[in-house]
Amino acid sequence: MVIAIDGPAGAGKSTVARAVAGELGFTYLDSGAMYRCVALAALWDGVDVDDGEALGELAERLEIDFDGPRVLLGGRDVSGEIRTPEVSGAASHVSVHPRVRAALVERQRHLIETADYVAEGRDIGTVVSPDSPLKIFLTASDEERARRRAGETGEDVKAVLEAQRQRDARDTEREHGALRAAEDAVALDTTGLGLDEVVARIVALARERGLV
Ligand code: C5P
Repeated sequence: MVIAIDGPAGAGKSTVARAVAGELGFTYLDSGAMYRCVALAALWDGVDVDDGEALGELAERLEIDFDGPRVLLGGRDVSGEIRTPEVSGAASHVSVHPRVRAALVERQRHLIETADYVAEGRDIGTVVSPDSPLKIFLTASDEERARRRAGETGEDVKAVLEAQRQRDARDTEREHGALRAAEDAVALDTTGLGLDEVVARIVALARERGLV
């Protein structure tokens, strides 16, 4: 069973999803890390981020594993490398290609079949797991999202805001797996809310729905 948490970059999905999973004893899935791995591998191999076929082929054969909080690409720990601004930008380019999405969606579906998951991304509630019994669409104001990201990475807030606008546009305007709330998703605006409050609301919804 999957609790789906979708939303734009910087809305707090990773922190919230990890905390909810911890609280409920579920496994956490960071689907964005998989797109980031494809982007990193493309940068390493010099594959053009517009070459959908080559990227699809790459996504199909890459070895991506999760070991607790660590992300492994071909057995190598890339947890830090996949978080650079360069990889963030490239990930939102590689993720527009249908063959890349198909390969990663299939892997995500296999993973979540095996246990109870809290999975976060852009299309978990709409594409990966449309039958999910609890879908959350997490948002926050543009400025708050950029401030949070800049606080984590030490980048300039204005630069983050601009990169974030471009990434949001690519994520919402693409044809396949576009960022949007599922019709039956619960929208949660986290602007001005603390982590504990957001987590408590989602855990309460999971209990109300008899998922735990
Ligand atoms: O969530 P995160 O910022 O790590 O995701 C990086 C990029 O991967 C996003 O900007 C988006 O383009 C892509 N992504 C996606 N579908 C998902 C998760 C991430 O297209 N389910």
